[in-house]
Amino acid sequence: MVSFYDWCIASGKYGQDILNAFQGTLDEMVHLDLMDNNILERSYAFKCMYGHTFEAKIGDIIKTNKLDCKQCNKSLYNWCINNGEYGREVESEYTGIKSKGPMDIELKSNKDRIDIHNIEYNSERSLRWECKSGHVFYGSPLYRVQGVHRCPMCLVNEECIEFKSDKPIRLRVGNILLSKTKLYDLCKQKKSLFYKNLLVEWTGMLDIAMPNNTVNIQDVMCDDMRGFIWRCSDGHYWRQSVYSRLTNKNRCLVCLKSI
Ligand SMILES: [Zn+2]
Ligand SMILES: [Zn+2]
Ligand SMILES: [Zn+2]
Repeated sequence: MVSFYDWCIASGKYGQDILNAFQGTLDEMVHLDLMDNNILERSYAFKCMYGHTFEAKIGDIIKTNKLDCKQCNKSLYNWCINNGEYGREVESEYTGIKSKGPMDIELKSNKDRIDIHNIEYNSERSLRWECKSGHVFYGSPLYRVQGVHRCPMCLVNEECIEFKSDKPIRLRVGNILLSKTKLYDLCKQKKSLFYKNLLVEWTGMLDIAMPNNTVNIQDVMCDDMRGFIWRCSDGHYWRQSVYSRLTNKNRCLVCLKSI
């Protein structure tokens, strides 16, 4: 007879983990004979080191060398360690502090934090993140793991290009008086791709760090000089006024730079 207990003792670190995870009694462990195939087919309760309880067959437990906790497999932590550099970045920015909305005051006490092992990678719960430059931003794990979503304030600094032009001010483009025409109406009127793209590239953001604080395109005139953030179909951001876009008729500055 080889008892489950003896097997754990002889199996190093993994054996020790199993010993801690097994939810039955020590006496039970001593009497489970691993030479008996019926025993190998039996399921018992185990608890992983992060407190998740699950059932597993004794045979499966001794065949692998890793405690296969379903909860842990779905955790954001597990996602992070399997997703290279970006995964490590997400892990390092994780605070586990819950927020109800983007501007909500974060909860400071430790018991209100969710351990990274205890939240699923596809959770839609809004959390607080802190990048290595000390910026604070909010978003769900699902948002972080779908595509590469970096700290919005770092994005402004690293990727958002400012458009500069010293052309003289123009009041008209063709026969359109800019101060009397809404951007939206102009784009709807014009047939060319440039105007179609303007509508697609519009984000309404004046500050990329405040993605919920946007200006409605219906409220913007063609001579608007404020530096709005635009986003091209490749995901680049740049800052340019409506007026400047209409008079320069340029496309995404980041795309232009990389040609
Ligand atoms: Zn677990
Ligand atoms: Zn940042
Ligand atoms: Zn672009």
